[in-house]
Amino acid sequence: MSDLHRPFNREKGMLVVISGFSGSGKGTLMKGLMENYDYYSLSISATTRQPRPGEVDGREYFFVSKKEFLKMMQNGELLEYARYVDNYYGTPKSYVEAELAKGKDVILEIEMQGALKIKAKYPDSVLIFITPPSVEELSARLRGRGTETEDVIQKRLEKAAMEAEGIEAYDYILVNDNLDKTVKHLNYLIQDQHMRVRSQISFLEDIRRQLRAYYAEMNSL
Ligand code: ADP
Ligand code: 5GP
Repeated sequence: MSDLHRPFNREKGMLVVISGFSGSGKGTLMKGLMENYDYYSLSISATTRQPRPGEVDGREYFFVSKKEFLKMMQNGELLEYARYVDNYYGTPKSYVEAELAKGKDVILEIEMQGALKIKAKYPDSVLIFITPPSVEELSARLRGRGTETEDVIQKRLEKAAMEAEGIEAYDYILVNDNLDKTVKHLNYLIQDQHMRVRSQISFLEDIRRQLRAYYAEMNSL
């Protein structure tokens, strides 16, 4: 399925920001996207939070101390960073820049403050907000994941109420109901961005050049 919806002319990689309430299924969707399509690169953030059971340093996150995080900030190694429920999270700059240069669509799975910073720095980036179909389902997913204490779950649900107020800053909202369907939909949404006129400038110039040459030849007959 990977090439069916791929635009014929990808001029460059795109920066894609995915945000959503904790437990909405962002991590699960990212896994589906990476497993099914070869033109994405997922940025791995640095965080000061503790790894959850099963999380591996350098795979889900680079797990660092507060001191190390501060050093990365001061050295300008982070594209953006934010504090989220008692911990710091940030996007290492070098990987994102290298993958974009290779033509990959780079996905940042980050929260809202970071998303806004990225939009300000990269106006061509696309911002997508993931929600579950209902709050009841969100709460069930958070509890079903079984990785947080009740206290942390409560904080994350409170945070969701605040985040809901900022969703207008995003370009798209995507409801994660059926997982397979949402993965496909997310891929279509991102790939369609490559067809925006401003993403097709070289192609447009080429067509204009061809038309001018055609017109010049017709006139010289
Ligand atoms: P997030 O990264 O947004 O915090 P996760 O990807 O960890 O969320 O998903 C939270 C829980 O919901 C996980 O247990 C995951 O298996 C489940 N989940 C994700 N997407 C769906 C879906 N479409 N339908 C049902 N359960 C889902
Ligand atoms: P979690 O602890 O559930 O893995 O992540 C908590 C929140 O931090 C999520 O909303 C996630 O998207 C966000 N996040 C993860 N990495 C980054 C990052 O590099 N920068 C910012 N701003 N947010 C991040």
